[in-house]
Amino acid sequence: MGKGHLSVTMDQFTSFFPIQVEEGQSWIAFQLKFEAHQSWARAYLWDVEKSLRFCFLDGGNERNIVIHEQAETTSPIAVSGTIMPGTWLLEISTDVGKHVEVVWETGAGKLPAQYDSPQLHGDREYWNSGEKNAGFTMDNYDWNKIWQEGSRWYKGDFHTHTVLSDGKMTQLMNSDQAEKLGMDFFTATDHNVMSTSWPKGNVLVIPGVEVTSGDGHWNALGLRKWIDWRTSAPDGGLTTQAGMDRLMKETAEQGAVCSINHPMLVPWAWQYGETLLSAVHSMEIWNDPTYSPNPEATEKALKLWSECWNRGHRLTGIGGSDSHMLPTERYPDCDIPSLIGDPATYVWCDDLSAEAVLEGVRRGEVYVSRGPVLEATIRAGDREYRFGSDVSQAFADEQQAESERNITCSLSIYSETNILVSLVHNGTPESVKAAPAAGGSDPAVLEWIIPWEADAYHWYRFDVRDEEGRLLAFTNPIYFGEKQPEEITWNDLLSVTGMK
Ligand SMILES: [Zn+2]
Repeated sequence: MGKGHLSVTMDQFTSFFPIQVEEGQSWIAFQLKFEAHQSWARAYLWDVEKSLRFCFLDGGNERNIVIHEQAETTSPIAVSGTIMPGTWLLEISTDVGKHVEVVWETGAGKLPAQYDSPQLHGDREYWNSGEKNAGFTMDNYDWNKIWQEGSRWYKGDFHTHTVLSDGKMTQLMNSDQAEKLGMDFFTATDHNVMSTSWPKGNVLVIPGVEVTSGDGHWNALGLRKWIDWRTSAPDGGLTTQAGMDRLMKETAEQGAVCSINHPMLVPWAWQYGETLLSAVHSMEIWNDPTYSPNPEATEKALKLWSECWNRGHRLTGIGGSDSHMLPTERYPDCDIPSLIGDPATYVWCDDLSAEAVLEGVRRGEVYVSRGPVLEATIRAGDREYRFGSDVSQAFADEQQAESERNITCSLSIYSETNILVSLVHNGTPESVKAAPAAGGSDPAVLEWIIPWEADAYHWYRFDVRDEEGRLLAFTNPIYFGEKQPEEITWNDLLSVTGMK
């Protein structure tokens, strides 16, 4: 049994405080209290072997953290397992001059009731094993577990928050809400915090984090292992260009997807201008449409994205609700709530698994929608394709005359409102067709014939809008061949699109 108390005014942004742990302890619990601060306060706990045991961000929610030998009584932002005796280190980062209070306690056996939390209740999936040397990893997560069988579009959300950072929904509420809204999967992307467990449910939850800095946010989707984003990392972590470059590189090396979030949404627009486009896999073109500055930011992002494609950088366009609120709440200037799954991102998977979703994003077999459900039949000769496909080889071994070689795109659209669909060619809308509202089993069908010209790299995608021009959906492109991408930076991209 041990107890300690820390009451300190920060004289630098990051300080380390020793925590002595006696022999024979089975749990360690912390209560953290931060004075109101400008930038989010963060805390990390390092054990005797310098292994990370929790990472915490003060988003105004629960500030009790428990690490127990047993996963069942370990906080969802912490790593369970042996509580070794010796000196542990509590790392705290917050603004200089701010006051911090920490109470900690260690003990053997059962966890005292005061440290109980609703976060620990119910059946949970433990993504971390808590085994020795597992570290802050998702070593117990089954990336290939099949959640649903069948080749189809699966509906998901790549940007969600919970009470583990600054959201209002618990993990369980997010899962319940997603199921209620007919979603198949979502990614857990709290700010600078990784979940190590999640309540059991019917919706696939994929581990991740929103790497959140003062100069932009990006999602590491499908992260298998904690990456060192700390300001105290030798390269400054998420506060420097070099640090961000490293974090993206490490994320890609793990097989996870790097996706820049709300790239044009001031003040959270992407400002790491030296980021190479080749370092990212995807972009969140569409962030929460119920947040009033987003429609304009989304149109800018669509333009930027087109320019990426024109330069041969075939980034996948995805969406994210960035949901933080309860379903009963809404932004003051919007008449509908900000819900998980708005917009939804549909990913083509042969069977639904975490790995299949990530792979689908990498391939670009994706469309994003606020409502309209799309089924596309894209035919060239004898072959069928999907959004995200390279169609340049469609007629490679056929004898038809060049003039008879066409790609037929037939879109079946289920939409509750009248819609206008434009075929966007290399960034320019070329042909707009209208379709009436159509639901149930009887979709509106629109067809385009695209001439097949495989000699030069080019691409087509579909944008779906309502009669007032508001975006309702967009697809990822089908494309012809490759263009060796120029190594260009984010600033270069902004310059060529006139957005810098
Ligand atoms: Zn977010």
